[in-house]
Amino acid sequence: MNSEHSRDSKNADSDSAFMLSALTQAAAALEQGEFPVGCVVVQENQIISRGCRNGTVPEPGRRAIISEVDHAEIRALKNLESCPYPVVPEKCTLYCTLEPCLMCFGAIMLTGIPRIVYAFEDPMGGGTACDLASLPLLYKNCRVQVKKGVCRRKSLDLFFNFFNKKGNQYWKNSLLEQYVRDQKQHGSGK
Ligand SMILES: [Zn+2]
Repeated sequence: MNSEHSRDSKNADSDSAFMLSALTQAAAALEQGEFPVGCVVVQENQIISRGCRNGTVPEPGRRAIISEVDHAEIRALKNLESCPYPVVPEKCTLYCTLEPCLMCFGAIMLTGIPRIVYAFEDPMGGGTACDLASLPLLYKNCRVQVKKGVCRRKSLDLFFNFFNKKGNQYWKNSLLEQYVRDQKQHGSGK
């Protein structure tokens, strides 16, 4: 095995390990009835921030709309503020169990985090494939590396469980729900 290969496989091992921590966050959200997305930010092999989805469960009689701001990535980025030691965004990788949406992708870029690893692709709302070259200067010049499909199956299983939850209304009958069911049934098993 040459050194490049061994470095790649070491990266793959640690990417899976950190994704499992993000999945723990996602499972905790599901436990609360929330949309199961979890996120961790890693700096030099250490988790420095965590976040999970919140706000998707309507409070009976109180909330007219569901907040689309409290995404797992935004919460993890906010939590960086309480990190006890200096955060160097350029040295960070953000792990998320679902492909970041456009809002989160933008926030990750603006924070200056150069690497994103996600588990399950979002064909309905994923933002990481947007063409940065056609955007204004700030985004055009971002060099963000995206790796997908790490622990994909585990994340898919959480979404499948979420959409099977009795009484769930969130993204019910959406393209995402349809895609999750389809992947569960016919997916590659990865
Ligand atoms: Zn988002």
